[in-house]
Amino acid sequence: MSTTRRLTDELAREGTLTARGFADLIRGRTPESAEYLFSLASEARDRVFGKGVFMRGLIEFSNHCRNDCLYCGIRRSNRLVERYRLTPEEILETCSAGHSLGFRTFVLQSGEDPGFGPGLVAETVSRIKASFPDSAVTLSLGEHPPETYALWRAAGADRYLLRHETRNPEHYASLHPRDMTVATRVKCLRTLKELGYQVGCGFMVGSPGQTPELLAEDLLFIRELRPHMVGIGPFIPHRDTPLASAPPGSVDETLYLLGILRLMDPRLLIPATTALGTLDGTGREKGVAAGANVIMPILTPMGVRGKYLLYDNKICTGDASSACRMCVQRRMESIGREIDTARGDHPDLLRASPCAPPASMSTAGGTPAAPGAAPGPSPLP
Ligand code: SF4
Repeated sequence: MSTTRRLTDELAREGTLTARGFADLIRGRTPESAEYLFSLASEARDRVFGKGVFMRGLIEFSNHCRNDCLYCGIRRSNRLVERYRLTPEEILETCSAGHSLGFRTFVLQSGEDPGFGPGLVAETVSRIKASFPDSAVTLSLGEHPPETYALWRAAGADRYLLRHETRNPEHYASLHPRDMTVATRVKCLRTLKELGYQVGCGFMVGSPGQTPELLAEDLLFIRELRPHMVGIGPFIPHRDTPLASAPPGSVDETLYLLGILRLMDPRLLIPATTALGTLDGTGREKGVAAGANVIMPILTPMGVRGKYLLYDNKICTGDASSACRMCVQRRMESIGREIDTARGDHPDLLRASPCAPPASMSTAGGTPAAPGAAPGPSPLP
């Protein structure tokens, strides 16, 4: 038996590997080993979630940002960006249109925008929750003090996405300005968990300077943090950033890591990201085939959608929300999957809440999922 196959089996059994084991597994990737890993990952996911793919509506409400991350197209010092900021009313209208299309999770994303302050975010969240009580609100607004995260949680926010990007301090420093540290980011993630959010971290695959050993650090950090969601996507350079000439990450390596994450924790919520679809026309379908179970069509109003460009050539910037909704449905059906229009909470949350609607764990035609049915010894605490 090859080393890679042995490591894949060990990962499926134990939910983790040593740092050396992860690095060897990543280095040993071949088309055959990837296919084997994807088959185990897909089975593990289906045992928990069935055939359904959860759908989230992404609302990019502001492209203002006080930060200057070296890889990001909307970084503070990019003077070529045409900045915009939606009003709470425009966000509500966007949610309303999304709700009519069947969305039951709204992901509010922006740069770290001091012009849309914590109080206004809280007010917007509570208005969304009051208008659409059957829907979840996910925030993806960067680093903030614990009291701000607490305010938003009290306003009704259910989930928070904050990619850690890389767990290694030197690598992090090479991608960010001096005033940003991975220690702060990790602290934010721990605070968010303590506040009861469903928390998502994640990283870019193929960012400049990344090695299998650094990826192993990311995976071990995820193992320790036990997030509810993990978002990964290939690094894609933006032409107006200091990393403009860096080569993009690999779709195949991203898919492989996605399969690894699924084997680490079968109950994770893992999106097949827009970045995957940007580098490969069927990247999102491949992401789901590799183990993802979430898809995030863009709901951002058409008038500003093309201005939220973290990287070059982003897809879906010219399509109406209704077209995106039908497009992802067709794409999922083409690979034997179905869109699950439930809120799509993490299985642990459903078990914890006697009020959670049973439909939330419906599997859109698949085998009924059981939260306790996850194989392997990797249950979340
Ligand atoms: S990655 Fe996020 S925090 Fe960094 S510059 Fe871009 S929007 Fe701002």
